[in-house]
Amino acid sequence: MQTALHIIAIPALKDNYIWLMHNGQHATIIDPGDAVPVLDALNRHRLTPDSILITHHHHDHIDGVHALCAAYPNIRVYASQHEHYPFSYIGVREPDCIRLESLQINLAVIDLPGHTLGHIAFFASTPPEQKILFCGDTLFGAGCGRLFEGSAEQMFISLQKLAALPAETLVYCTHEYTLQNIEFALRLEPSNPMLIKRYHDTKQYRAQRLPSLPSHLGLELKTNPFLRCHSEEIKSAIHLPDASELQVFTKIREIKNHY
Ligand SMILES: [Zn+2]
Repeated sequence: MQTALHIIAIPALKDNYIWLMHNGQHATIIDPGDAVPVLDALNRHRLTPDSILITHHHHDHIDGVHALCAAYPNIRVYASQHEHYPFSYIGVREPDCIRLESLQINLAVIDLPGHTLGHIAFFASTPPEQKILFCGDTLFGAGCGRLFEGSAEQMFISLQKLAALPAETLVYCTHEYTLQNIEFALRLEPSNPMLIKRYHDTKQYRAQRLPSLPSHLGLELKTNPFLRCHSEEIKSAIHLPDASELQVFTKIREIKNHY
């Protein structure tokens, strides 16, 4: 029988979350930018990690890998086949599917060039009632990652891929940026009622020091300006009433860089 999966947020570094998915015994670690809080969580919950999943090569996502592999020599690391890493790993890319036997879960790999050129996400839809997305620095709560390596067009297409996943998908991003992102989004869409509600809800979570994540895709589609480039209100806010969705995306990504 399938044991229920749990996903724990481990706050790390300045504003990262390292996600720990487990079944009470075995665990997989997503984007460990620091090993210390992960080792602590593994000990506290008495978990054995079998695998590490890496979405992209930035230091705040990989710097804990060496120490975790030293502590657990049998651990398997899965990372993008399009990028290079300073440790042993199994390279994966779309349309690969990773089977995590101990957790009885399949993860589809999605290529998401933009933030980095080789950025990938992991999407689980097994069991069918549990849809989970680990999207690294591509999609954030009410925002998206910066364009460090890819073009605006690549990022726009990557976000469209995520937007096409089932609306009930839980979205596990790797930074606590949601409140700042909502404040920016409200400047573009001040009369979006879902966005206004999300602002108040998120303020409450953060006042209690609770993570604003995971989000779910349905909420992102209704409140995330980078998934709402069709919005007439956004087009009017940036004075581009006749622009294409890609032009709107490019413009608001540019404005956000200086926000
Ligand atoms: Zn990054």
